[in-house]
Amino acid sequence: MATKKASTSHATSAGGEDLNLKHLVDRQFARAAEMLPEFDPVILEQIRICNNVYEFSFPVRTKDGPRIFQGWRAEHSHHRKPLKGGIRYAPDVDGDEVQALAALMTYKCAIVDVPFGGSKGAVKIDPRKESVEVIEAVTRRYTFELAHKNFIGPGVNVPAPDMGTGEREMAWIVDTYDAMHPGGLDNFACTTGKPVSQGGIRGRTEATGRGIYYGLREALNNDDALKLFGLKRGLADKTFVVQGFGNVGSHAASIIAKEGGAKLVGVGEWNGCVENAKGLDIDALLAHWKEHKTFKGFAGGKYSADPKAFLGVACDILVPAARENEITLDNVAKIQAKVIAEGANGPVTPGAEAELLKKSILILPDIYMNAGGVTVSYFEWAKNLSHMRFGRLLKGFEADREHRMLAAVEQLTNKQVSEATRTGLGKGPEEVDLVRSGLQGTMEDAYREIMKTQLGNGKKSKDTRLGCYMVAIKKVYASYQSLGIWP
Ligand code: NAD
Repeated sequence: MATKKASTSHATSAGGEDLNLKHLVDRQFARAAEMLPEFDPVILEQIRICNNVYEFSFPVRTKDGPRIFQGWRAEHSHHRKPLKGGIRYAPDVDGDEVQALAALMTYKCAIVDVPFGGSKGAVKIDPRKESVEVIEAVTRRYTFELAHKNFIGPGVNVPAPDMGTGEREMAWIVDTYDAMHPGGLDNFACTTGKPVSQGGIRGRTEATGRGIYYGLREALNNDDALKLFGLKRGLADKTFVVQGFGNVGSHAASIIAKEGGAKLVGVGEWNGCVENAKGLDIDALLAHWKEHKTFKGFAGGKYSADPKAFLGVACDILVPAARENEITLDNVAKIQAKVIAEGANGPVTPGAEAELLKKSILILPDIYMNAGGVTVSYFEWAKNLSHMRFGRLLKGFEADREHRMLAAVEQLTNKQVSEATRTGLGKGPEEVDLVRSGLQGTMEDAYREIMKTQLGNGKKSKDTRLGCYMVAIKKVYASYQSLGIWP
């Protein structure tokens, strides 16, 4: 169907470890497939491979003259439609990385029961070094190229933000798509992660970070997991460190600290780290980071110019939320955490993972932990297709019902409830309440299913990633079978 000139990456770590994300994802898949000997190898191969890769170059007029950019959109699996996956803007992105990330999207959607196939897009560009005008022109032209080849559309392929993109880019994408499809009733469902004023949903921006919080909370309250890894129950008395203070990392840090009660003791970024064993003031740190784009000069913690200093900070939980291949065999020995919650895609290499598992460290893998983003994207897409805000029909009804129940309780007991209790009642759910409730339930159910599979063979495996891949493969396999293509 599409141009297949996929470029490849051959990165290796200083210690000689293969860091090609596509190879790593394929290896994980192969390990899980081995655990499923009853499955037909041909269907398994169909699940593993990337169905379409569109790699293209496009010109953009800038104030410095015309420039050529390179773009990708990979469609990993068409077992469910539309396909779904973010768009990454990064200077070192390549075709293999995009295909690997698309595959992770397929498995992620399956794990959290989001009815989409996996996809991913990218443009080779460093957004930190480009003007807003160039980024807008590139985004609009990239959208045009995708639309031209039918790689975007509410029922075909629905992008979302990823590293280097956010609400702003999604608004440009929907505007461009809408201009190309005048009068299209469902045009706003062509992308998710939009600003609320452009058909977005409340709670999407924080969704991946919030999903990490729900996933961690569930794991740290799961009896089997606590016993298997020798962990103490709950988040409240734990310390944690985050790498990457962008969308995923900053929201995860804020919600884990404010709602989970854990103490943030370190943050790492590409240009340095900050730590404070007594706890970092998350709001003050975020304000400092947004203003200066460095932790240098932050009064509430000790600064280090070494971007890897976060690895050695003593903590219970480490949340790598920057990018892939950050924890490798070269640096894994420095880690002191007992739990690794992967916010980024592919932050821990298989070599490093094996070392961590030997030490009985709980690794909560990317394809489960960062699935909050796509879960709420699914809610946004469904909202766009229904053309109505969630909760709009119910809000007044629920508020009245709560008032009536309260009055009945007061009448029966002859007592009045306190003002504090009354304040939280009789309001009915807002959109954001429903989004959070849907996300919480999704993350909790998914973890229980993963643990059931992980422990299912009676071997008490500590390898949660293996459990995740097995859950995902089983679901995609069942979908292929029910399509009737396979015996
Ligand atoms: P982002 O661009 O908002 O933030 C990434 C942050 O990491 C930035 O602050 C950047 O400066 C920092 N960073 C980059 N390289 C670094 C390095 N070598 N060391 C330390 N920090 C570094 O991106 P994001 O959306 O937060 O995505 C982060 C990760 O989460 C990516 O792997 C992405 O694929 C994954 N993810 C994102 C979403 C989402 O909803 N945004 C969903 C699922 C997965």
